[in-house]
Amino acid sequence: MNDIADDDRPVIRRWPRPEYGTLILRALQLRCPRCGEGPLFRRWFAMHQRCSHCGLKFERAPGYYLGSSYVNYGLTAMAILVAYVVLHYRFRFSNADLAGPLAAFCVVFPLLAFRHARALWLAMDCRWDPGMMTDEED
Ligand SMILES: [Zn+2]
Repeated sequence: MNDIADDDRPVIRRWPRPEYGTLILRALQLRCPRCGEGPLFRRWFAMHQRCSHCGLKFERAPGYYLGSSYVNYGLTAMAILVAYVVLHYRFRFSNADLAGPLAAFCVVFPLLAFRHARALWLAMDCRWDPGMMTDEED
């Protein structure tokens, strides 16, 4: 039998690939995209290195979260577009009245969305990178 050989090999765990809705919900809750249990952040801007529940390595590679800045930019652009259209065309605020507050919004909003942008970036990677659903990569 191969019992001896099987006992010598490390056990590789596999997780089912979550659906998009599940991944988005876990990202909004700032939870691990793979298991949905472990928190991503230990402080506002500081992430845990690994999931406390499933062990997923959150820092996938050096500079991994650079892509989350694009997510953050997209979220900020959509928010500022909606705010401008509503405030200018619905409530008749002039461009001069909106310039200052919307510029301040463009500074504050990305700081507030920082964690969710990273969580969404990690969730997208969890959906598209099959290596994240096993322990093999570690
Ligand atoms: Zn996890």
